Amino acid sequence: LTGRMMDFPLTLTHFLERARTYFGRSEIVSRQPDKSLHRYTYADFYRRTCKLAHALARLGVKPGDRVASLSWNHHRHLELYFAVPSMGAVIHTLNLRLHPNDLGYIARHAEDRVIVVDRSLLPLLEKFLAAVPSVQHIIVIPDDGPTPDGRLDYEKLLAPEQDSFNWPALEERSAAMLCYTSGTTGNPKGVLYSHRSCVLHALALCMTDTFGIGEPDAILPVVPMFHAAAWGMPHAAVFTGARLVFPGPHLDPTSLLDLMAGERVTLAAGVPTIWLGILALLDQEPKRWDLRSVRTMAIGGSAAPPAMIAGFLHRHGLVVTHAWGMTELNPVGTLARPRRHHEHLPQEERLALRATQGFALPLVEVRHVSDAGKVLPWDGSTMGELEVRGPWVASSYYGGEGPDRFTPDGWFKTGDVVTLDADGYVRITDRSKDVIKSGGEWISSVDLENALMAHPAVLEAAVFAAKDPKWDERPLAAVVFKPGQSVSKEELAAHLEKRFVKWWLPDDYVFIPQIPRTSTGKFLKTKLREDYGNYLLD
Ligand code: ADP
Repeated sequence: LTGRMMDFPLTLTHFLERARTYFGRSEIVSRQPDKSLHRYTYADFYRRTCKLAHALARLGVKPGDRVASLSWNHHRHLELYFAVPSMGAVIHTLNLRLHPNDLGYIARHAEDRVIVVDRSLLPLLEKFLAAVPSVQHIIVIPDDGPTPDGRLDYEKLLAPEQDSFNWPALEERSAAMLCYTSGTTGNPKGVLYSHRSCVLHALALCMTDTFGIGEPDAILPVVPMFHAAAWGMPHAAVFTGARLVFPGPHLDPTSLLDLMAGERVTLAAGVPTIWLGILALLDQEPKRWDLRSVRTMAIGGSAAPPAMIAGFLHRHGLVVTHAWGMTELNPVGTLARPRRHHEHLPQEERLALRATQGFALPLVEVRHVSDAGKVLPWDGSTMGELEVRGPWVASSYYGGEGPDRFTPDGWFKTGDVVTLDADGYVRITDRSKDVIKSGGEWISSVDLENALMAHPAVLEAAVFAAKDPKWDERPLAAVVFKPGQSVSKEELAAHLEKRFVKWWLPDDYVFIPQIPRTSTGKFLKTKLREDYGNYLLD
């Protein structure tokens, strides 16, 4: 018997219309390249989104066409986020930190028809444009000065257009957004989000049990809008009418803290490397910023070190919400929050739970399996590869690459090596491409890094596999000290010895000024292995 309820499609157009109907007075603030703040309301945003849709339609953009953005986080990027999917086309966010060769590959693969680019990033676009034969129009966002002659100017295109648009009726399963994985192993792969997946994911972010996003919030997505849809924060904000605060190109700790305090931000989101810098600055100048408005900081993308989570809480009264996600998931999959039956636990143990990757969001299911494909027990110690399924998990890659990542029984293989405990808390011990196998046994680089970063002199640490004649691989630690501080290798070894069995301890330590980073701000272990892989052999 079929239920008799309406098949109302779950689309981003509904979010956009809702913002216009109810939240016209909410504000969107963007930091511009000259550091000044641009402000307008959701009413302005809605009108400009309509104008943008008209302009794109006039240029020939049709349903399903890919319109790419090469932009920092700002209000015009948000206009693209909604105008393009609501007119039935697909917004493809290009990662401005990638090498031009990768960008050329990705834009060609996506067959982008239009590219909208910040003027400040035009030189980057020029480097790969020739590799993208599908491109018919370049639109320049005049972020740091006038658009060069002969190029389409975003503002001039919008100016003459009407400020209302007859949005087409869309199927909820139609494509809304295209995001590529960063391709640290092999070519980048495209993940094609549907309207439905964006809507359901945004809804999940609004639950009290997750990020509790609502209209009273002021959200600062530090995570770039080209990194897995800025984790869905812009969608959730437009859905609820929350204030949005965009950092533009200014991602240094001082600029971000100025914005958090000045704009009374309630929720900020970004990768751990951003927050490590912020914590170090707050420790130096604890009284400089009034951060009482901040409800929580969403941290994910790589493991948030427990010492950082504890440092924010104990020294600055700031609560971290640690979450795990992937581009393939739209992207949040699990979130770390102690549950009711943990209430009686001592604070340290509750903090330890907050440092796990957490348990699955509603509508997401997880399991972990052995190399042989056997589903493993949730005992807190058996390691296996994490697999996920749910309405915002990719069912295949755009273009069909990597079919082996999807199991015949309908799960996506994440490539993360994890344990699961009886309460369902996921603990990532490594990405499978980063695991250290010493004499056939796994050593968790993440556990060692977390312990090193708990040392008061250490700013950042990455542990990776170096070649070893006897054990095949042994852990080597790259360590960055806090400004003006340093300690000996012996002291670091003694610090670790308290927590780990002897054979887990790094064979050596290299002290370097900065850990190399990926395009999304994670530790780039491939580079460390390239640079120091033979270190123990010499
Ligand atoms: P990439 O890192 O390839 O640029 P993603 O941002 O999609 O692309 O990365 C997803 C991966 O990031 C996950 O598979 C996992 O390894 C890692 N990751 C994400 N969140 C966390 C977290 N909270 N803790 C540990 N690892 C994380």
